[in-house]
Amino acid sequence: MDYLEEEIKKKLKYNLQEQEIIKKMNIKPEIFLPLIFSLKFGGNWSYKTEKDNVRLMAIKDKVTKYDPQEKVGYTMETIYLFSNPVVIREEGGVLRLEKCSEKQEREIVERPYIVEVDADDIIKAVLHPGKLKIKVEHITGSLTLEGSLAYGVSHEMDHLMGQDEEHPKFLWDFNYELL
Ligand SMILES: [Zn+2]
Repeated sequence: MDYLEEEIKKKLKYNLQEQEIIKKMNIKPEIFLPLIFSLKFGGNWSYKTEKDNVRLMAIKDKVTKYDPQEKVGYTMETIYLFSNPVVIREEGGVLRLEKCSEKQEREIVERPYIVEVDADDIIKAVLHPGKLKIKVEHITGSLTLEGSLAYGVSHEMDHLMGQDEEHPKFLWDFNYELL
């Protein structure tokens, strides 16, 4: 078997696995899409299904376990997938410059430091690059996220709810200062 053939077989097997896990989790295939995007391309994703008007959002967390003595480690990725998410609590305000793939330039936004999100369904996926495993489970109850995860939720919720900053500030609103 040549290398290319082996690659194709692996990809087919992987795709089959994806379909199987979707079936086992008892969800519609399109629900899984933002999670697949986050796994394949990285980052956070959100989108609305046209047919059933389901709002979906995948938020990614990365944690590196590191041994400073040996200088080795691995980066675990946790992705939270929300169906019809609702923000039920927000705390704090963090000013930051953000770049959105839909926009040309970065702009200043204020994000909460903590968000509590509820949803019709929350799925947690944990990817371990050493074990080559992606563990997936349904989560019950709401989820409280902080820091970069809260910024991510707020950013994607703006997309899902069609909210845009009224008077956005950009890089050219900054002033240089020579010290
Ligand atoms: Zn965006």
